Amino acid sequence: MKAVLDHVGIAVENLAAALAFYRDALGLEIEAPEEVTSQRVRAHFVPVGESKLELLEATAPDSPIAKYVGKRGPGLHHITLRVDDIHAAVAQLKARGAKLIDEQPRAGAEGALIAFIHPAATHGVLVELKQSPVPSPQSPTMSRVQRFSLGDLELVSLCDGFLQVDGGAMFGSVPKPLWEQEAPPDARNRIRMAMRPLIVRGARTMIIDAGVGDKEDAAFDEAYGIDRAKALDQSLAEAGIAPEAIDLVLASHLHFDHAGGFTVRDPGGRLRPRFPRAQYIARRGEWDDAGHPHARSRAAYRADNVVPLAEAGVLQLVDDDVTIMPGVRVRRTGGHTMHHQIVLIESGGKTAAFAADLVPTAAHLPESWIAGCDLYPMETLAAKTQFLKEAVERNTLVFFEHDPVIAAGYIREQDGRRSVMPAPG
Ligand SMILES: [Zn+2]
Ligand SMILES: [Zn+2]
Repeated sequence: MKAVLDHVGIAVENLAAALAFYRDALGLEIEAPEEVTSQRVRAHFVPVGESKLELLEATAPDSPIAKYVGKRGPGLHHITLRVDDIHAAVAQLKARGAKLIDEQPRAGAEGALIAFIHPAATHGVLVELKQSPVPSPQSPTMSRVQRFSLGDLELVSLCDGFLQVDGGAMFGSVPKPLWEQEAPPDARNRIRMAMRPLIVRGARTMIIDAGVGDKEDAAFDEAYGIDRAKALDQSLAEAGIAPEAIDLVLASHLHFDHAGGFTVRDPGGRLRPRFPRAQYIARRGEWDDAGHPHARSRAAYRADNVVPLAEAGVLQLVDDDVTIMPGVRVRRTGGHTMHHQIVLIESGGKTAAFAADLVPTAAHLPESWIAGCDLYPMETLAAKTQFLKEAVERNTLVFFEHDPVIAAGYIREQDGRRSVMPAPG
């Protein structure tokens, strides 16, 4: 295995005194501190060539750093080695019987994957392995297409670009100082969210949701910060799937960021279904609500996304939690809208789920982190509690439709805390 020294962590007792040495006496530059809320730690990085020093300051008496300093005094806390493939590294260590603190890599700061090795194995030094974050969504090199196999089914996560939504609207009653740690807002308090439709290939080829599409005008794009520099067309092409190959289009619900891509405007200005051979499937209650919006739901529904489907005779409405094709069924959750549904996928004893707006991003794992725009938040709470419990128990591969970085992952629970282990597609 190839490893590069990423940083050396130093537990400090008195930050001012530490800065007097590292910054003033040594003359090194200190980067702006990073708060690691879950660990009650503030980290001050000090670049030294290819690597960094990390001065670790406790922000609460129960912080692991406070305990460490209390027991052993300030000093070397850990070293971090960067590896290309952390899963392979952990497997190699396990095979050699090395004692690990993390038996599985887990999500660290900024999308990195990390795993700690026990000092008993490393001759007395706490060693952290780190795999650099999956490329950021801003990075043009990032593939917007991730493939997964699930028994006999192939799942392909696509991307219709990004939008910016008010952070308060996405996290409801959660105070901003908490949610901004997970989803940093822009100058207008908006957070970046992806739109990730999912292809399911089995007996038939299905797409679940289709992003925002391209029918809207510049004012709309500006209001919602739409970034479709690379959108669903490119994603489909990259995946090698022609629009004509889609047999079924399934809607989680009919909000514009999910159903906008259901229709396109042809060169003559007429609206038509975007997938020419497909049957479109929506929940009847959701269809009725989209056609009769009220003051609170109106902004999210647009007739152009759905009416042309009925006119073209390609719409199929379902009333219950039915099987859509072998291995794929829907479950009404309500909450976000009265008839919002998620998609449960099962094949070869494995399970996956398309969580849609029930758990829109990986930051929404705590049960009570519920979007302010949900129409029936207490219903969201009930459905989400049940869903997360099942997802942990069944090791479900969960697709996060709106997460800006993590398309899919497994939910882990340790000491009452949940985290997502991103799944490399
Ligand atoms: Zn929605
Ligand atoms: Zn949405």
